[in-house]
Amino acid sequence: MVTSEIMEDNNGVFHGMEESEVDAQMGQTRAQARANSNRSSWSNGQCVVAVPSFSTLNPSFDLSLCRAKLERDGFEIPFSDMEAPLKTALDVPSVKRYMVFNSALFHFIMAPVLYVVLWCAVFSTLHLYITVTDYWVLCLSVSLVSIFLTTAVIFVLHNSNKEINMNLDVRLVQVNERMVRHKLLVGVADWVQNCTGNMQLYFVYWDMSRCLRALTETLEGRSFVSADTQKKLKRKLSHLVLVTEVPSADLTAEESDVEQGLDEQSPLLRNEDTDGSTSSSQQGSAKVTANYSLIPDASLPAQGKAHQLLLTYSAAYVKLLVSECLSGPSHYRLRPQRNHCTTAPLCLCQYIKKKILQ
Ligand SMILES: [Zn+2]
Repeated sequence: MVTSEIMEDNNGVFHGMEESEVDAQMGQTRAQARANSNRSSWSNGQCVVAVPSFSTLNPSFDLSLCRAKLERDGFEIPFSDMEAPLKTALDVPSVKRYMVFNSALFHFIMAPVLYVVLWCAVFSTLHLYITVTDYWVLCLSVSLVSIFLTTAVIFVLHNSNKEINMNLDVRLVQVNERMVRHKLLVGVADWVQNCTGNMQLYFVYWDMSRCLRALTETLEGRSFVSADTQKKLKRKLSHLVLVTEVPSADLTAEESDVEQGLDEQSPLLRNEDTDGSTSSSQQGSAKVTANYSLIPDASLPAQGKAHQLLLTYSAAYVKLLVSECLSGPSHYRLRPQRNHCTTAPLCLCQYIKKKILQ
């Protein structure tokens, strides 16, 4: 099996599909069979669980409540596949700070403050250079300029929130890599409702097999322009870097592998810049951080590339899906063979094709 060799990975980043296949074969116990029958009632894109953040200023989610709700619905997920990666991804002070300052509520509060600051700045600047007799004319024009500038800033921030987000969506890639084996995808979305922030962690049902097949076929169909496709991927994904914690022992082992020329044993996502990125040690020398580029390797087969792209955009897609920000044809329900999502006009594979392959 070619993909399993290439996708072999000892750091927990982008595990191959083989492991999930092995898991599936290993134990079809009675509990699993029951869970499977429960799961079959779900369709792609349906929200299974949504839990709100405890507070706006300290965003964190009740994972035990998530577990209880998921188990009630027949999703039995081991701790190492849910809580552990979610804590690694979201329970970091810098990520929490980012979530607060990038939340919809913060932007909502910021808008009037920005308006007042801009008003004062524009007024004092114009007042210095222009001498007007009618103050109301000056005030009116200053107000108009301030309204225009504030609207522009809010518009830019609002649109940037619709894109894939380095500090949140990309961190959740590691969680979705494990959750997708249980046919679930995770994402964090927030918006303002009745003047209060509404940040929630979403678990959405998603069976990746049909999306994987469709995207693999698309990539295979483009094999005659593969250099062009690879260039496109490089351009669109070059800014996405996954930061993970790697035990330092693993890192040295990995380096010695590379030195010995065991290239086929190295992880799918290469350690881009070992010297530059391993500076921040935590708890002595126990753990170091490593950066991984999310551009699929040119030597990967089409299926491997498709799998990696689907996981990369999974959390961003869930965010857009639950906040109803996906735009597409309105007659999507009539074309189930193309759209594998029952609740949105755009499926994950279609979203990726639109975002990066067009
Ligand atoms: Zn799809």
